Amino acid sequence: MNVILIGPPLCGKGTQAKLLKEKFNLIHLSTGEMLREISSHGTKLANEIKSLIDNGHFVSDELIIEVVKNKLDEINSQHDNNSQYGLLFDGFPRTVAQAKALENILKIDYILEIVVSKEEIARRVVDRASCSKCGKAYLLSNIKTDICEVCGGKITQRKDDTKEIAEARYDEYMFKTYPIIEYFKNHNGYHKIDGEKSTEMVFDQICKVLK
Ligand SMILES: [Zn+2]
Repeated sequence: MNVILIGPPLCGKGTQAKLLKEKFNLIHLSTGEMLREISSHGTKLANEIKSLIDNGHFVSDELIIEVVKNKLDEINSQHDNNSQYGLLFDGFPRTVAQAKALENILKIDYILEIVVSKEEIARRVVDRASCSKCGKAYLLSNIKTDICEVCGGKITQRKDDTKEIAEARYDEYMFKTYPIIEYFKNHNGYHKIDGEKSTEMVFDQICKVLK
């Protein structure tokens, strides 16, 4: 079973990926991690990618697909032909070209879009805070004091955790991701998941779909 998770920043995708991975025994593939991992390998591809990232350049579709292919080969070589394993893609594909390339390599069973409104994302962003000393995460709506319960440090918000920046990031996500959602909409495995519910309820919806 191969699954793609799509959703805006702070939609809870990371948490759901973790739960899914455990319950369905999936191999979690995040492009960010794959890129970090490969740039430490020292191969020609790795060096090319490392120099792009170090210089703040965009990594092209072709290169990302190359990285994903390499990773899949590596996973294949670690499993014998008879063993069944599923893949969970997180943060990939990001473009229609990447989606098409991925479909050429393997069968995608499910595309899950975690839907959370712009208003809710902005609310989550302005609600989050953390201890300036130990980093423990807090929700402002949950605390009565700005003193960390663990270390006594001060609980603060990040400067860029504003409604305006959150909304701009959301718009950017929608703009960039919309074409992929359009592309997958007619796929049998495409499902919308209501991401505005609790973690357990969101996971419940996903489990019902995957059955
Ligand atoms: Zn603390």
